[in-house]
Amino acid sequence: MSDAAFRRAFGEQFFDRLWQLKPDWAIAIGYYKYADRLVVPDEAARAERLEQADRWLAELRRIDPATLGPAVRADWAMLENEFLAERWGLTELKSWQWDPSVYNVAEPFALLLDLTFAPLDERLRLFGRRLERVPAYYAAAKASIENPSREHTQLAIEQNRGALAVFGAELEQALEMSGLDARERAQFNERLSAARGAIEDYVRSLEALDERLASGAVAARSFRLGGDLYPQKFALEIQSGDTAEALYERALAEKDVLHARMRTLAEILWPKYFPNEAAPSGALDLIGRVIARLAEDHVAPAELLDEVKRQIPELERFVTEHGLVELDPSKPLIVRETPPHKRGIAGASIDAPGPYDAAAPTYYNVNPLDEEPPERAESWLREYNRWMLPVLNIHEAIPGHYVQLLHANRAPSLIKSIFGNGAMIEGWAVYAERLMLESGYGEHRAEAWLVYSKWNLRSVCNTILDYGVHVLGMTEAEALDLLTRQAFQSEAEAADKWRRVQRTNVQLTSYFSGYAAIVDLREQLKRERRGSFDLKRFHEQFLSYGSAPVRVIRELMLAEG
Ligand code: ZN
Ligand code: ZN
Repeated sequence: MSDAAFRRAFGEQFFDRLWQLKPDWAIAIGYYKYADRLVVPDEAARAERLEQADRWLAELRRIDPATLGPAVRADWAMLENEFLAERWGLTELKSWQWDPSVYNVAEPFALLLDLTFAPLDERLRLFGRRLERVPAYYAAAKASIENPSREHTQLAIEQNRGALAVFGAELEQALEMSGLDARERAQFNERLSAARGAIEDYVRSLEALDERLASGAVAARSFRLGGDLYPQKFALEIQSGDTAEALYERALAEKDVLHARMRTLAEILWPKYFPNEAAPSGALDLIGRVIARLAEDHVAPAELLDEVKRQIPELERFVTEHGLVELDPSKPLIVRETPPHKRGIAGASIDAPGPYDAAAPTYYNVNPLDEEPPERAESWLREYNRWMLPVLNIHEAIPGHYVQLLHANRAPSLIKSIFGNGAMIEGWAVYAERLMLESGYGEHRAEAWLVYSKWNLRSVCNTILDYGVHVLGMTEAEALDLLTRQAFQSEAEAADKWRRVQRTNVQLTSYFSGYAAIVDLREQLKRERRGSFDLKRFHEQFLSYGSAPVRVIRELMLAEG
């Protein structure tokens, strides 16, 4: 076996070179050696990345995967996909040309201020060295953009305006508090104002460009990825082995199955909640009315954080008592209010340490609602009502994302944790919801199953929407009908989703794709192993390979037996 040769070629030095080329990504996962480097995204940088990807690909292909042990063979396959995806992104997709929102310097700077891997003074010095190249960064961005889509141009305007917040009062305060001497401070401030100027200039130039795109003076690209690029991107990103079209067809069929099941549940619940009213004859109307009624049962804005804090240990107990998957009491999940600069649209999210800093705490951020406008808070709370809030906590935390990460960080493969597959990660969280309901969380009450089904329908419709919009030319009206009438989402949620599908592609299919593949694998093993199938063992084996594509994990599990 040539496992050792593979590990030599794609071990520490490989990653060090990767982080040199991609220091922003490195900072995000806790590797700080090149934290002072800001890569100027010009033609030379792209050429360097392409050359490196080709060199790595050639090196990788000199190792015959058939000579590798199963776990290392999976790493080999993930790397090959990674290098091919890099090449394809630079030469075929070319979002660096038509998506101005790929240019934004804010996030790594925010992390440098926020993280505590080094004393403040040291982090500010790294910050200062990065700042120096911000004007060159945006000059390269402007030179790279050609015939962008209006949607991505507007997104870039919004997000780069938002980026200015990272270079505002909080930063000035940090500088104030620091031990940097007068000369260092003066230099820092000079670079800071040049960086702010560069961001403002980028925003202004995009605003002017957007006007030319609107008037037709410059031809705008469609935000739709199209039937040529979409299947290729789907293959490289989702890595399910199935086609995008097949997944879309499956999602359409699944939508019908869910509607039928939800109709039965709504019929059961109708007399309980509407004792004096005849049920609507249309199935979608009936389901929608019952769901809206169930949504009235929710906590007050000020109670949200405490309610989440109460539910997490309850979910942990349930998972342990029902023997679903192993938890790790030595790595507790800390529930907290989302720190102000991270508050966005998302109501709750996991903030987990990267593979280079696996000992750092994991936070479950919950957006406080008491300062939101009352209608917004009410709309969010109706969505995450008594029946839905646990599903959110299951998805994000236990046994969803948090538990998957816990197990992934134990997997010894850096390759699998760094090049984690989004469909496996989201698929696991979506599968976790079903697992809990199947195991009796919610006591098999019709309310719990109906509201869960609405959530599950969201994953299914994300796939229908994404493929429909990017390949089949689905219109805005069709999309909103799908989301509101057929998937029972609020107008506000549907409008947000329409914005998201215009600005992203393929990612929305990851939830249903990964979920469907995990359910298929589980059912296959249940059939094959019959009496010897053990659910907890299945979950732990599944999670033990790290965030590899489900297709890859499947092969490993079938080989291992
Ligand atoms: Zn209410
Ligand atoms: Zn998720």
